[in-house]
Amino acid sequence: MSRYAYVNGRYLPFRDAKVHVEDRGYQFADAVYEVCEVRAGRLVDERRHLDRLERSLAAIRLRPPMSRSALGMVLREVVARNRIRFGLVYLQISRGVARRDLAFPTPEAAPSIVVTARALNRTRIEARAATGIAVVSMPDNRWGRVDIKTVGLLPNALARQAALEQGAHEAWLVDSSGAVTEGASANAWIVTRDGKLVTRHADHAILGGITRGVLFDAVKAQGLTVEQRPFALDEAYAAREAFITSATQTVMPVVRIDGRTIGNGKPGPIATTLRREFHRFAEAG
Ligand code: PLP
Repeated sequence: MSRYAYVNGRYLPFRDAKVHVEDRGYQFADAVYEVCEVRAGRLVDERRHLDRLERSLAAIRLRPPMSRSALGMVLREVVARNRIRFGLVYLQISRGVARRDLAFPTPEAAPSIVVTARALNRTRIEARAATGIAVVSMPDNRWGRVDIKTVGLLPNALARQAALEQGAHEAWLVDSSGAVTEGASANAWIVTRDGKLVTRHADHAILGGITRGVLFDAVKAQGLTVEQRPFALDEAYAAREAFITSATQTVMPVVRIDGRTIGNGKPGPIATTLRREFHRFAEAG
């Protein structure tokens, strides 16, 4: 089946979808992005993702290059042209093409907008959720504004690769005080011995995940409480349950951290319930 991408106003066959070598996204990671889950052909939580995109654009001082409704139309068109039922849609906006110079281009360059979509293997993700994943911790050596969803993901890529090479599926990043910030591409959660959920408060040290935010509603509906605060690795090792959240994985149980078994080594009841309930609280566009 042919794949298509949207690049600066045009829907192109995937192999022809290109940006210039002097695109500032390529040169400096001067670009922001979003990833939305696609479920039954529909975008999940489009409104919240576009809200966060606007915050990311404002934080890097880039004007939204098109209206929200136009952007929404492009996202849906790329999903439709690629016939995605279950998968993801990716959107990236860079500060455009200009002679390589750290200072912003003057006059302003036209931002580069790229949208792609791809199917995800649902069976494989469900199988992974049924067994749970292993994570390994490593130092969080990212910059101080990881709340902005920029494409500057080299530390995340290095952490993920190191995790895979240690037989784990995700890295948990640990700050200089010994607290877990988040995963390489997901937010980190634990369930304490007394049944409270804990996830780090959303400051500049984590990306405020859309899934994380929606999950607060699912948690409340279960009569559970969340503490938003830092938690140390030792607290995580002793947790009753652990899990990660992201748009493409929703709630993914964690059953091993640094080789230590969490709970009884199987996905916990809270993570399993929240995974099942999640989409009742998400918006399907
Ligand atoms: N944290 C990081 C570093 C991420 O890259 C992501 C998603 O890609 C998340 C958290 C989860 O965010 P969301 O739930 O919006 O997908």
